[in-house]
Amino acid sequence: MSWYVRRYFYRLAPPASNIMRAGEVWGAVTVLFVSALATVSALLIARGEELSFVLPFVVVILSIYLYVVYKRYRVELVPEGDLDLFDDPGDLRILCAIYGLPRTGSPNWLRHRLAQFARANSGSSFVWVAPRSMKRIASGLEVSAEKEEQELSEDPQELVMRMVSDEPSDDRSRRPLVWGVRRSRSRLTSIASCPVCDSDVQENSAVCGGCGADLEFYEALSESKVGRRLVAQKADGRGRKV
Ligand SMILES: [Zn+2]
Repeated sequence: MSWYVRRYFYRLAPPASNIMRAGEVWGAVTVLFVSALATVSALLIARGEELSFVLPFVVVILSIYLYVVYKRYRVELVPEGDLDLFDDPGDLRILCAIYGLPRTGSPNWLRHRLAQFARANSGSSFVWVAPRSMKRIASGLEVSAEKEEQELSEDPQELVMRMVSDEPSDDRSRRPLVWGVRRSRSRLTSIASCPVCDSDVQENSAVCGGCGADLEFYEALSESKVGRRLVAQKADGRGRKV
C-alpha cells in the first residue's frame, strides 16, 4: 500500500512544483526588472533629466514588459476531462513541453502526467509557464525529474484501464471539442486550409485529406493561446519530418 502512496505522491510532485516554479521564476524576473528600471530612472534623474520625462518612460517600459509576460507566459489549462480528446501522442508531448512537464514516456504516461497537472491547477483556467532555459537556470529539478521518470515502469492495471477507455470513437467528427466548445457547421465551412499541414480542405470534409487531422478540433484549439502553440509546433514537427 505504501508503495502506491509513494508512487502517487511522486507523480503529483513534479507538476505541482513545476507550476509554482514557473510563477516564482516570473516573480523573481519581475523584481529584477523593476529594480533595474528603478536604477536607470534614478540615474537619469541624477543626471538632471526632468521627472516629467522619466516617469512616462518608466510607465511605458513597465507596461510593455507586463503585457508581453502576461500575454505570452500565462496560457489556458487543458482540463483533465478534455485530455482524452487528444489522441495523437505527439500532441500530448507538445502539451507537456508547453506546460514545462517532462516529455518522456508512453502516451498513457503523458496523459496521466497532464491529468495530474490539470488536477493540481484545477482552481484556475490559466497557468503560468516559463521557458525551459529559464527554469533550468532557476533549478535543475526538471532535468532530474525527467531522468527519474524514465526508470519507472507502467502500472499494468492502469494501462489496461486506459486501453479500454481509449478506444477511438466511431465518428471523430461528432466528438466534443476542447473547453466544451460546440461543433458548428459555420466554423467547419470557414476552414479553407488544414491548420496542421496547410492542405486545401475539400468541401464538406471534416477530416483533412492530407494528414487526417480532425479539422474542427484543431481549428477550435487554435482559438486559444496554448492551442495556437500546439498547432504551430505540430505543423513545425511535420515540416521537419517531410
Ligand atoms: Zn492536414
